[in-house]
Amino acid sequence: MAEYSEDYVEFDKLGIKEVRCMKCNTPVAVRDHTGIGDENVLAMRKLSNWRQVRIELNNGSYAEPIFCVQCASNIDEKKTISQIKKGWQIELKAKGFNDDEIKEKLKHYDKLDIKEKKEK
Ligand SMILES: [Zn+2]
Repeated sequence: MAEYSEDYVEFDKLGIKEVRCMKCNTPVAVRDHTGIGDENVLAMRKLSNWRQVRIELNNGSYAEPIFCVQCASNIDEKKTISQIKKGWQIELKAKGFNDDEIKEKLKHYDKLDIKEKKEK
């Protein structure tokens, strides 16, 4: 099926490996070794450029897409909507829906748009 946009989250066998800005693809969170007591564990670490923007959508819901500090104040609305849909697509796929079912569900969001945005 048609992909909405590129992936902004990278997975590997251990789970999320890296999270990137939804606009420019710069890494904003990475998996790292962190010491908890005597134990060395893997954990996601947000980088200092991590920003989340709360976006009110025209269907009454909201989303909190992830950007880098440079892009957070100057987001690309069309691409952001596309990335939000992409996120849903990934989520539905993970829940076991097939491509046709996903397409059918996302059809209802053709007119989805940004109503208001606020940097967190
Ligand atoms: Zn960016």
